[in-house]
Parts: sequence; structure tokens; C-alpha cells
Amino acid sequence: MRQYNYPKVILKTGKERSLLRLHPWIFSGAVKNVIGNAIDGENVAVYDSKNAFLGLGHYQKNGSITVRMFTFDEVEPDREFWKQKIQNAVNLRRALGYLDGGDTNVCRLIHGEGDGFPGFICDYYNGIVVFQAHSRGMYLQEEMFAEIFREILGSQVTAIYDKSDKTVPKTDGAPAVESRFLFGSEAEKEVLEYGMKFYVNVVEGQKTGYFIDQRENRHLLSQYSKGRTVLNMFCYTGGFSVAALKGGAGSVTSVDSSQTAIDLTVRNGDINGFNAGVHQAIATDAFEYLDKMEPNKYDLIVLDPPAFAKHVNVTNQAVKGYTRINRAAMERIAPGGILFTFSCSQAIDKQTFRMAVMEASLQAKRKISILHQLTQPNDHPISMYHPEGEYLKGLVLYVE
Ligand code: SAH
Repeated sequence: MRQYNYPKVILKTGKERSLLRLHPWIFSGAVKNVIGNAIDGENVAVYDSKNAFLGLGHYQKNGSITVRMFTFDEVEPDREFWKQKIQNAVNLRRALGYLDGGDTNVCRLIHGEGDGFPGFICDYYNGIVVFQAHSRGMYLQEEMFAEIFREILGSQVTAIYDKSDKTVPKTDGAPAVESRFLFGSEAEKEVLEYGMKFYVNVVEGQKTGYFIDQRENRHLLSQYSKGRTVLNMFCYTGGFSVAALKGGAGSVTSVDSSQTAIDLTVRNGDINGFNAGVHQAIATDAFEYLDKMEPNKYDLIVLDPPAFAKHVNVTNQAVKGYTRINRAAMERIAPGGILFTFSCSQAIDKQTFRMAVMEASLQAKRKISILHQLTQPNDHPISMYHPEGEYLKGLVLYVE
């Protein structure tokens, strides 16, 4: 048996069960004791109460998840180990066709637990790579990751930006995390998604710059758009709006509370050649807009709100939010209308979201059926052993 020089985390009796099923999170309540002085971000070796080895992970005292496991094998987590993991993730995206110079050059390169990187995501914007660490352990490895990405991607990477200032939990005594370039200095790029152009600014944009996870759902929407009058609520950069216009929508109205988002939406409409006559973008509150909207004006509506529930203890409130906006849209959509409705809250599971939408349907008193059940795309893989990784849920509804 290999001996590790890392602090040892010993679990309480029975708490090894989820790890034996390869689930990568150890909650604080599962830890019996820690041998050695473990500090945030450090590698720790994890053992069950009888001292059997379970794997290696990153320690994080603050927060409910004390250890995020990055391997269940008895291995040396050296540079070669991480390089192999990154290579595997990149190989998958290559196999899926996102890095071959085709009509899509934006994708997620590393999707946290789904790629064996709990606490880390990495997005690719036509050359600009954006890192985001959600744990100090991943954050501390980012300079090494940047070197490895440059080795693996070669000329396909033009800049690497780390955007972790708001996502790494605070550690007493440790310096504050600041976002910074790890390579190059390019902040903005035009990317291609199914041939549509989008302007992305990784430094100023929300999240890592763009919502890549809706790519396939936007593509599906374009197939429903011909001749329709479309309302895109919570439009951000106007991804669904451009997809609808590409699909031949008669007109598109985009709504977001952020003026910056509206400016981006207009810009993205413009660079794809759609003129102001068919596309209107309004900076206003979505709840107000839906409540005041005149009935039968739209026959295709998209509802893609921000995560209403960031934690499991606020799910009730979130469910009410989903019910409210869906009800408003269902009450006012034209007969024969199509509603694309989403939730990206990890804390709300598929069934809970579906119940919220069912409640809205009942309240709206419309006959409604499900045409598609949507989720995140293949560059956002879900580990079989970590069902929480399935965070994006969507329904396409037909409203008679
Ligand atoms: N559909 C987008 C992503 C939406 S992200 C895409 O495909 O890229 C959620 C958006 O909701 C953000 O742009 C945020 O500014 C906006 N938002 C948040 N609260 C809002 C509210 N009350 N009314 C309108 N927009 C809101």
C-alpha cells in the first residue's frame, strides 16, 4: 500500500459508502477526524474508519463540502496525472467536433465532476480559454493547468484567463483571489455556434462570458421559429434571439433586466445581419413584462431565468418563482404556441422543476403537453456517479 505524506482525513463509520460508489464529495458531517494540519486547498488522503484507503482529494475547511475527491485510485497526483486528465477531457471535445474548425468553436472543455475535476470548469471561446475554480485546491493548480493546456492545444489557444475571484471560498490568512490572465491578454472574441456569430468578452461578461450550455437548445429553437412571433425572456447575449431569427422568425423581442445584456443582444443581432425591423430588445424586469404583456401577442416564448435557487434551503421560494413566470407565459401565449422553459438551478431537480411547471399549467387553465425534455449538451458531461452534475433542465411545451 502506498504511503502518502498528505494530511489524513478519517471518515466516520459507514460514511465511506458514498465514496465506494465513486461520489466525489465528502460533507463536513462525514469526517471523524483529520490527522495532520490540513489547510485549504491541500491534497489529503482519505481513509474509512478502519483505515482502508478511499482516495485523494482537495481539502476545504470553509463550506459544507470538506473534501472534493479527484481520484479513488492509489496514484501519485503529479503533473503527469493532471495532464492525462486534461488530455482525456480535450480528447472528448475533439471527438465531439468542437475543436476541428467547423461551424461551432465554443465549448466547455472541463465540466467539473463530469470530467473528474470537482471544483473546476474551463470554457473555450475560439482560442480564449477561461478557467473558473470553485475550490482553493483547483485554484492553486491553475498555473500548472495553463501550461498543460498550452502544450495540448498548441496554436488553438491564444489566451488563458482565470476568472475565480468570486468563486473560490475565502480562507482566513490566504491572499484574496484575483482574476487574471495566465497567458496572453485577449479578452474578447467573436465565436461561432452553429454558424451564428456571437461577441464574447470573457473579462466583462457574466459567468465565463457566455452561456454555452444552451447551445443545442438554441439550435432546437431555431427549428421551431419559422414565421413565429418570438419572445426571449432573460436573453443575456441574445443567443435564443439570434437562433430564432436564423430559423426564420417573423419578429423577435428580447428582454433582460441588464442594459449591458440588451446592448450585447443588439450587437449580436447586428453582426448576424438581422435588422432592427425584426428584432426589438428591451431592458426591463421580466416579471413585470410578463404580467403586463398583452395576450396572444407571441406564439413562441423562451423562459431562461438565472438560477432562482442557489442553495437547497431556498428551493420553495425558487419553485414559486418558476411557477409564477411559467403561469404568466402560459396564460398569455397565443393558442398553438410553443414554450421553451428552463431551470439551471442545481438545487432544483428535474422532477421538482416539472412539478412547478405542472402547477403553472393548472393555474393557467390551458391544455399543455410536453414535446421535448431538454438538458445540457455533451460537452457538459454528467458523471454516472454524481447525478448532481445534471443541472440544466428544460421543457418544450405545446400550449393548445
Ligand atoms: N438565455 C441566456 C442566458 C440567460 S442568463 C442565453 O442563452 O445566453 C439569465 C439572465 O437573466 C441574465 O442575463 C440576467 O441579467 C437576467 N435577469 C436576471 N433577473 C432578471 C429579471 N428579474 N428580469 C429580467 N432579466 C433578469
